[in-house]
Amino acid sequence: MTVSPLVVRVRPARRRLCPSSFALAGITGLVLWVAVADLLGQGRLETVLSAGRAELATPLLVALVVATGICERIWPAERRPVLARGHVQDACFLALHAIVVIPLLTLLSVGAAVLIGDHAGWIELRSTGQWPGWLLVPLTLVGMDAANWLAHYADHRLDALWRFHALHHSQEELSVLTSFRAHPLMHTTGFLLATIPVVVLMPTRPIAPVLITTYVCIGTLQHANLRWTFGPLGRVIVSPAYHRLHHAPDTQAVNLGVVLTIWDVLARCARFPVRGEAAGRTGLDGRPVPVEQADSAGPALLLMAEQLIEPFAAARR
Ligand SMILES: [Zn+2]
Ligand SMILES: [Zn+2]
Repeated sequence: MTVSPLVVRVRPARRRLCPSSFALAGITGLVLWVAVADLLGQGRLETVLSAGRAELATPLLVALVVATGICERIWPAERRPVLARGHVQDACFLALHAIVVIPLLTLLSVGAAVLIGDHAGWIELRSTGQWPGWLLVPLTLVGMDAANWLAHYADHRLDALWRFHALHHSQEELSVLTSFRAHPLMHTTGFLLATIPVVVLMPTRPIAPVLITTYVCIGTLQHANLRWTFGPLGRVIVSPAYHRLHHAPDTQAVNLGVVLTIWDVLARCARFPVRGEAAGRTGLDGRPVPVEQADSAGPALLLMAEQLIEPFAAARR
């Protein structure tokens, strides 16, 4: 029996696609659709998107990124030019974050809250309405941090999620901008999980935007190209030196914390940095994701497109 050349060409192309990545994209699309439909029904789409921008792109965060960038020039963990390839590439991801990811994150939070409210409303603790704010708000933020740890743990344990998280780990020149080097679809599980403590503990009261901003700022600082360990505070709060150990090619199973280290301590996967220790290498051995440091890398925007498409291609781990 002869095989037509057309069949020979089509079959390998089908095999090279990854169904689980399309499934995650579908789930994300569904959550977004739920959010947009709900907000359009209430006539609040633009208001909520503006509020999301105010929380996630505040002048405070911009000032933090600029101040950290200056500190990185003065006390770098690894000395490199301002326009190092890694910095330029992560700046492209910062632009993507501002334009695409911030509205996406806002809508994911809304969609997750609507879905949980519609299908699992019984988890809402109405009695917390009587609790004082000084107790309830920190408790909710700690719950969100635990949910983010769990989502990060899943990113490293499940191949379907690792495909999207690997892009973040592919950076060989870590800087404060690496916080924004993430595939947009990497955020879905984290936002679905982190919405649960909010719905449970604060079903009727919104968290003050300044607290969300502070949380995001601490989470952003951890990628800084600095050796800072935060001293004794670094035993509790994730420092740049602590998170850098998570980005080492061979120790990604440690230091999964986003803001608090307690979850790593409880899971026995905390590795605290030693003050004065030399900055270790970061990135992924074998470069499974295309990176800007490769000699064959194309222009930044073209490479970013390749990096974003990559999780949808064939299995690689
Ligand atoms: Zn990770
Ligand atoms: Zn990271």
